Amino acid sequence: MIKKKLTLLLLVSTIFIYAQERCGTEANTLKLISKYPDYAKEREKVNTETKNWIANLPNYQSKTIITIPVVVHVVWKTSAQNIPDTQIQSQIEILNNDYRRNNIDQINTPGVWGGIAADSEIEFCLATIDPNGNPTTGITRTQTSTSQFSILGPSVEDASSGGIEPWDIDNYLNIWVCNLGGGLLGYASQPSNWLSSNDGVVIGYTNFGNSGNSNEPYHKGRTATHEIGHWLNLDHIWGDNNCSDDNVSDTPKQEEDNYGCPGFPHNPNSCSTTNSNGDMFMNYMDYTNDQCMNLFTKGQKARMLAAINLYRPNLIYNTCVDPTNVINMSTSNKKLVKIVDILGREENKLNTNSPLFYIYDDGSVEKKIIIE
Ligand code: ZN
Ligand code: CA
Repeated sequence: MIKKKLTLLLLVSTIFIYAQERCGTEANTLKLISKYPDYAKEREKVNTETKNWIANLPNYQSKTIITIPVVVHVVWKTSAQNIPDTQIQSQIEILNNDYRRNNIDQINTPGVWGGIAADSEIEFCLATIDPNGNPTTGITRTQTSTSQFSILGPSVEDASSGGIEPWDIDNYLNIWVCNLGGGLLGYASQPSNWLSSNDGVVIGYTNFGNSGNSNEPYHKGRTATHEIGHWLNLDHIWGDNNCSDDNVSDTPKQEEDNYGCPGFPHNPNSCSTTNSNGDMFMNYMDYTNDQCMNLFTKGQKARMLAAINLYRPNLIYNTCVDPTNVINMSTSNKKLVKIVDILGREENKLNTNSPLFYIYDDGSVEKKIIIE
């Protein structure tokens, strides 16, 4: 009996330690699997499909920049939780720096990995047009009576529990910012052919952006960089089990998550390898402090681009156009061939408030919505 109690105590304290994790994406995936058993099968298919996509399209790196429209849903009870626009803008800037490898701390990437550090060619912008075709700042603000949200509920992605429903998950990256409980900094839903109706990323308001209410040591916006990595199908660099696989070949095998700010090299030859460089603890998909993270690899980039092409294809052509001046934004060098609607019918008269696809002579396509 005493032994049983001790085991229970250990179990509870283990759960407590887990509750202090940086990231709840694994827990969120397990929640979805327990709720919808089919989700597990879809997730299994993803790794095979992703590997095939990368193997069949070796030239993926030559694709143009993908710009993802973002809507930030601020759900607040106290005024501190109602974070200012400047904090949100700082986060978008950080994402663009990190995903394009324009982050100033890239100089801290150890030289041995400089050659595989990637410009992911993915950018983010606050949405300029909402799902109804109206101009928007890309920021929604919802006052709530819910003191704290969590993965297991109350859920910030559900209006019925004091949150707000996502915008069309095929066309936007939804980011909820709220008071997130359980010691978590954030969580995300990973892609598959079966997208959660709450698809997106949730981030605690004290670790979003690099200004305002953002707190050390998670005050440089890397929680969102990390969680959006999951949303684009990246796994934790240690593979969520000791010396497990993150399905990326150029990231070294790693025993477990790292916290704080280790020195390089850290844990050389771990997992019975001959890797004298040790853990890539400065990768965005580890758990180190914000100021110690500085790279995605080329292998991770390939996985993210595969995720967009396979499971989030609308994002390839979506962007944030100037809603007051859509008609004049045609690019200079390429020639417009025709304009079609969502069913592929050619448009001669420009209808307003519905998506249109501009097809150019260089083969590129732009999605636009014309508003009056
Ligand atoms: Zn994570
Ligand atoms: Ca790896």
